[in-house]
Amino acid sequence: MLVDIVPVGNVPANVKRAASTALRSVYDCDVTINDAQSVPNGAYDADRNQYTAETFIQLAERVGRGEKNIAVTPHDLFYRRRNYVFGLAYLDGSGSVVSTYRLQTSSDGGFSNQSAEDIFQDRVRKEIVHEIGHTYGLEHCDNNRCVMNFSPTVREVDIKEENLCGSCQRLIS
Ligand SMILES: [Zn+2]
Ligand SMILES: [Zn+2]
Repeated sequence: MLVDIVPVGNVPANVKRAASTALRSVYDCDVTINDAQSVPNGAYDADRNQYTAETFIQLAERVGRGEKNIAVTPHDLFYRRRNYVFGLAYLDGSGSVVSTYRLQTSSDGGFSNQSAEDIFQDRVRKEIVHEIGHTYGLEHCDNNRCVMNFSPTVREVDIKEENLCGSCQRLIS
């Protein structure tokens, strides 16, 4: 299995590295990093000052060289009626997307003594692993430690771990 990371816009090297390392450690896959792409035409919604997540998924499917392709972008994404999304993927699909925009928010949990940069990179890793999990057919998991737990705010992201729980792991092996 090959997963291709497709940077859209200006994605820092440490974010690409974090994404790649996380995918390799959780899934039995190879990871490549594609050339940086510009934001797809029609992605920007001027009324919302946000970008529609689906167009980024379509771009990842179009330019990606993997069986799974994940767009990674610093731009703020929305999907349908949700105010924002950290990422989006279709179940069993080949494309997905993660936005780092809202993962930079400082935590309201205050339980961690990690640096802001470490917290940010942990969140990136978890959301990347989460969206690729959907493309492997995994749905949301009730276990709040599992990476497939639904995490609408960074608080839930910070609580969960980077790995699949035992039940989710069994579903993909
Ligand atoms: Zn999800
Ligand atoms: Zn799980």
